[in-house]
Amino acid sequence: MQPVGFTPIPNRISRLVEVAYNLWWSWHPEAQDLFRAIDARLWEDVYHNPVLFLQKVRQSSLDAAASSPEFIRDYHEVLISFDEYQIYDKSWFSQTYPDKVNKPIAYFSAEFGLHECLPIYSGGLGILSGDHTKAASDLGLPFIGVGFLYPQGYFKQEITPDGDQAAIYQKVNFSEVPAQPAFNSEGKEVVVSIQLPPRGNLPERLVYAKLYHIQVGTVPLYLMDTDIHPNAHEDRELSARLYGGDQEMRLAQEMVLGIGGVRALRALGIHPAVFHMNEGHAAFLVLERLREFVLQGIPFHEAKEKIRQTSIFTTHTPVPAGHDAFPFPMMDRYFPKWHEDLKISRDEFLNLARQDQHWGPTFSMTVLALRLSSRHNGVSKLHGEVSRQMWQWLWPDKSVADVPIGHVTNGIHSETWLFPPLKQLFDKYLGKNWTRDIDNNDMWNKVYEIPDVELWDVVSQSRAAMVNFVRARTQQRLTRVGLGQDQLQATANLLDPNALTIGFARRFATYKRATLLFHDTERLKRMMYGDGKRPLQFVFAGKAHPRDEPGKNFIREVYQRSHEAGLAGRLIFLEDYDMNVARYIVAGVDVWQNTPRRPMEASGTSGQKASLNGKPNLSILDGWWVEGYNGKNGWVIGDPNAEYDNEYAQNHADAISLYELLEREVIPAFYDRDSRGIPPKWLTLVRESIRTCAPEFSTYRMVKDYTTQLYVPSMG
Ligand SMILES: *Cc1c(COP(=O)(O)O)cnc(C)c1O
Repeated sequence: MQPVGFTPIPNRISRLVEVAYNLWWSWHPEAQDLFRAIDARLWEDVYHNPVLFLQKVRQSSLDAAASSPEFIRDYHEVLISFDEYQIYDKSWFSQTYPDKVNKPIAYFSAEFGLHECLPIYSGGLGILSGDHTKAASDLGLPFIGVGFLYPQGYFKQEITPDGDQAAIYQKVNFSEVPAQPAFNSEGKEVVVSIQLPPRGNLPERLVYAKLYHIQVGTVPLYLMDTDIHPNAHEDRELSARLYGGDQEMRLAQEMVLGIGGVRALRALGIHPAVFHMNEGHAAFLVLERLREFVLQGIPFHEAKEKIRQTSIFTTHTPVPAGHDAFPFPMMDRYFPKWHEDLKISRDEFLNLARQDQHWGPTFSMTVLALRLSSRHNGVSKLHGEVSRQMWQWLWPDKSVADVPIGHVTNGIHSETWLFPPLKQLFDKYLGKNWTRDIDNNDMWNKVYEIPDVELWDVVSQSRAAMVNFVRARTQQRLTRVGLGQDQLQATANLLDPNALTIGFARRFATYKRATLLFHDTERLKRMMYGDGKRPLQFVFAGKAHPRDEPGKNFIREVYQRSHEAGLAGRLIFLEDYDMNVARYIVAGVDVWQNTPRRPMEASGTSGQKASLNGKPNLSILDGWWVEGYNGKNGWVIGDPNAEYDNEYAQNHADAISLYELLEREVIPAFYDRDSRGIPPKWLTLVRESIRTCAPEFSTYRMVKDYTTQLYVPSMG
């Protein structure tokens, strides 16, 4: 019963294995605390991975836990909530749509950000998929995820002493993570295959993908891996890395995801009622479904209509280069006989996804997804508008306003992102069952019942935890790059745990303008030191895509600034932004800064995580913030309606606005203290951030919107 390689687990606590293999633990701190209680140091060493933990833990530690009455009590409490969680009949979905519980929803995504121990996500898109999946489980949807299990995942970021980003790929051993091979009804491992054309030394061949299963609460996630025998070396590399390789590799990867993904579901005996393509990467799934229908004798146009009615597509970026499109000759090579199988001509096949803008005639994954689905959406109100404009050419008889692309604004999975001591405050003041009621606006008025002292105490705790984390991480890094003892000692004084702290952590794409803050460094330095009584400090983190040179230059600039006199020690670049780092920063800074060039930020979700933790946003009015800002829960940088002649003029105006807001509003509100040392104005910002954003920008609200507006109407 116990998996091979595990330290033998005493019977009294044997269900720890079950807990370890269900990602449910990743949003239940009390479940993580069980592992921490057994061996806190090991829990950190294995990077919060319970499977590896149970393989490495000492027998004596397990025995000690099994004979500790406190541990046994906590263990039983956790298992009671784990078991209760899985009672399906009580869920929102089964109560709201009892006649739809047998209509599976298949959700395809190229990345899933579930937890830092599974590096199969790169950024916002992946985190969104992970949060969507967790909420689908919480709400009881008949939901199934499909994606990749990348053996090398996304890279770990190291910053060299010169400020260069080094990308480190580490091989993930699947037997050491909470994933297990998937089995079909006959108990056999599932392997699917896809035909690929000759390339280099490789002949035409089948590439195989093995299926893994990750359990996320009540939702199964099926992830494919091509790094298996008998695939050729190059094909084993196909799924090795997220967004690695050239355009042909990308095309082959997307064939495995879309086509292989449908075949994987069939091999498992799963027949989804609805297919949701999260971004265009998975759009080839519609081709495989077309092929299935036509093979069954259904005429092409009828098949196409059936697929349209049961497919949903979400687009995620207003940046043209963010939409994959493949040249026709490449499509001819990779899909040589597909049009024959579909009983249409080559031209009809290519026209399913033809796009002529930008790169000449190409096969666009977004066009394919838009044409072969009947319900499609952007990820915020503004992004919906931008998408209608962007894709209006597909509906030439419609005005922009009538283009049938709506929006479902992104949200976050609250329990994943909430600072645990704040969760305890919510437990105390919002009512015991508040986690079942996250999208209830009225419930959140109760944050006004949290006493100032307790709220300010948690805010201070979260900042202190973040500062300690920054110091420990910086120390590890300096040890790695081999710096001297005095520099190591200096890390003990990095950041001030009582100072107003601004956070900026996100992908280093240039449109996000990470370096805007340095527009006038002298003014910045004056602000940071002030009269010595109102210090201001900054924490930066983020990865750039390994091929994005301008993005990497931004990292270098921030890193170098963090060593400049007048900034050093009070402006930090923290390396290797991932979900673990994100949890510390979104909860631990006081203000979340965001400076995208409007309207490039489709939604953004990190600011929502900050709001949930009571951290006001200081942001350009873009993405979700257009809907989130209410005048009392943060600030708007710049004038959203201004038009600029050039980028410099825009940067200048936005930087000045940022400085003025900091000087006139943010710093005074934070340092205006009452006799207890508490800033009353600030606590209003804290409460307003939580009250207004926690319900509206939760994945509860989001997944319910998807369900009522998109999933259920598509179920027929
Ligand atoms: C939330 C999150 C993101 C996405 O944040 P944006 O606001 O969309 O930039 C990216 N990476 C990590 C690790 C996150 O936790």
